[in-house]
Amino acid sequence: MSETLQGAISQLHKAAKYTEVPDEILDILQFPAEVLSSRLTIRMDNGARRSFQAWRCRYDGSRGPTKGGIRFHPDANMDEVVSLAFWMTFKCAVIGVPYGGAKGAVKVDTRELSKAELERLSRAYVHAFAGLIGPDRDIPAPDMYTNPMVMGWMMDEYCSLVGQHVPGVITGKPLAIGGSQGRSIATALGGFYVLQQLLKSLDLDKCEKRVVIQGFGNAGATMAEMLHKDGWKIVAVSDSSGGIYCKEGLDPVALAERKRKKGSVRDYDKSCGGGKIESIERDEMFECDCDLIIPAALESQITRDNASAIKARVILELANGPVTSDADEILQKNDVIVVPDILANAGGVTVSYFEWVQNKQGYYWIEQEVYDRLKPMMETESQAVWDLAESKKITLRTAAYVLGLERLVDAIKAVGTQAYFCP
Ligand code: GLU
Repeated sequence: MSETLQGAISQLHKAAKYTEVPDEILDILQFPAEVLSSRLTIRMDNGARRSFQAWRCRYDGSRGPTKGGIRFHPDANMDEVVSLAFWMTFKCAVIGVPYGGAKGAVKVDTRELSKAELERLSRAYVHAFAGLIGPDRDIPAPDMYTNPMVMGWMMDEYCSLVGQHVPGVITGKPLAIGGSQGRSIATALGGFYVLQQLLKSLDLDKCEKRVVIQGFGNAGATMAEMLHKDGWKIVAVSDSSGGIYCKEGLDPVALAERKRKKGSVRDYDKSCGGGKIESIERDEMFECDCDLIIPAALESQITRDNASAIKARVILELANGPVTSDADEILQKNDVIVVPDILANAGGVTVSYFEWVQNKQGYYWIEQEVYDRLKPMMETESQAVWDLAESKKITLRTAAYVLGLERLVDAIKAVGTQAYFCP
């Protein structure tokens, strides 16, 4: 078992110490319900056939159909998919959407594929996993390096396979075919609402508001823009090419435009910042003088090797699993508060839920309605996690797991445990 998966499961056991969990339920929750692996073979543009490893994991469906994105990434592997599906299970429980957790992946570097090859791969994924997914069984969505277009291809493929129009089989679709308003900014917006709700409690309301953002993809770049508008100074950002630093603050809108044209944040020009911009190594990002760090890239980025150099007081996890469990311990010792992924990035799956509800109703909401429904959910659960952490004197991460676990336990108990049958 990988360190990532071990770390994920250890959270379950940690949380179980703070709430009543029957052994039979712990046993159910420490293993995935279903993991399917498939080799996807597609025709390349040059006429050759090439195959790619792919997975889908449904971790637990006690609270509803399973839900979770599909990532296309060269480092994808089965343990990572299972860890991500485990996190989705708890994320859906914490934020209170009626889903279980799932995740999928294809081991591929999408930069090596043409658009037509990417379409064939996306359709092949649905072919391989058609028996597993479904609008009331398992509902995929975008994740790293997949986007609304990929979701559109996947939905189209599923609809032709079953001979029906089933928009609710997948979320994160383009608006024209049943996507939801607000879905593309939902992960960042959810994180922003969490931060707003906890600003005072985190003691960030009177700080200098300097933030470092690791990852400048959809979530990272959108979050940078929202924070910038709210008066935060974006002192450093990075992407896979490396990092850049500007003491006076970067302009995320100019930077995103530049990245779109040139390919990376390292290709900045002077319009991208309010002062001198320097290139820095990715690890140096975390050592910057700042108040808040937002990891918005891959998992396992803050580890035992770099955690002690962190000067920020708060880390808000917009990525899934960016802080390893040994880094968590170091941060706790150093009084760095971590707002955990299963709360901080739950805005994405929440608006996915709204999309699915709209698909089922065949009735579509205006943008403001999406935000008006998202905000109170993020605020209520952020406060609930904070209050639980305070009352039990535990970290926000453990508190989020305790809250999620209590909801999972309730769902499993609702169909009867030993205590019901043999009191
Ligand atoms: N991939 C996103 C996540 O990790 C969204 C999942 C979804 O919308 O189902 O939360």
